[in-house]
Amino acid sequence: MRILVVEDEAKVARALQEGLERQEYDVVVAGTGEEGFYLVNAEEFDLVILDLMLPGRDGVQVLSTLRKRGLLTPVLILTARDAIEDRVQGLDRGADDYLVKPFAFPELLARIRALLRRGRTQQVSRLQLADLEMDLVVRRVRRGGVDVEFTPREFELLEYLLRHKEQVVSREMLARDVWRETSRATPSTMSLTFTWPGCVTK
Ligand code: CA
Repeated sequence: MRILVVEDEAKVARALQEGLERQEYDVVVAGTGEEGFYLVNAEEFDLVILDLMLPGRDGVQVLSTLRKRGLLTPVLILTARDAIEDRVQGLDRGADDYLVKPFAFPELLARIRALLRRGRTQQVSRLQLADLEMDLVVRRVRRGGVDVEFTPREFELLEYLLRHKEQVVSREMLARDVWRETSRATPSTMSLTFTWPGCVTK
């Protein structure tokens, strides 16, 4: 398994590289956003660990450009800024998970394993239900051939529901997997209904 670490702090990058190599991962380190962006376009990786605070092109810019180009490589964000807006912004731009610095290495390993497992089983680029078509690469939704506009969060919500079609999706599942909240149940302040054939309303 090949992991790209995009991290400008040399000490942190070295610690990550050494720790991950001990777990038999193949690790490539990029010290700037530009270098990371170049590498992820030029080479194949199974996972990207991306620091948000980078000189030049920052992590969020790198991430949104990658996703716009259709790269589905799982991305784990590292951030020292634990403000909720930053996390939400990162996830809305297409990150798969995040970890706030300082973090415990075993937790990082657990998250990496989870993302790699998910990456293997869920590498689909398109979801479909009746005349509803969701393109996960260019992030476009069409119904009956007509484009439907979604906010990033609505898009994630619809994707989650389509991935769990014919299953009961609880508020707790949405809080955990779409809002990625562990303790606070954000959606409790909203009422969500998914009616088929219909749309997502809040
Ligand atoms: Ca940094």
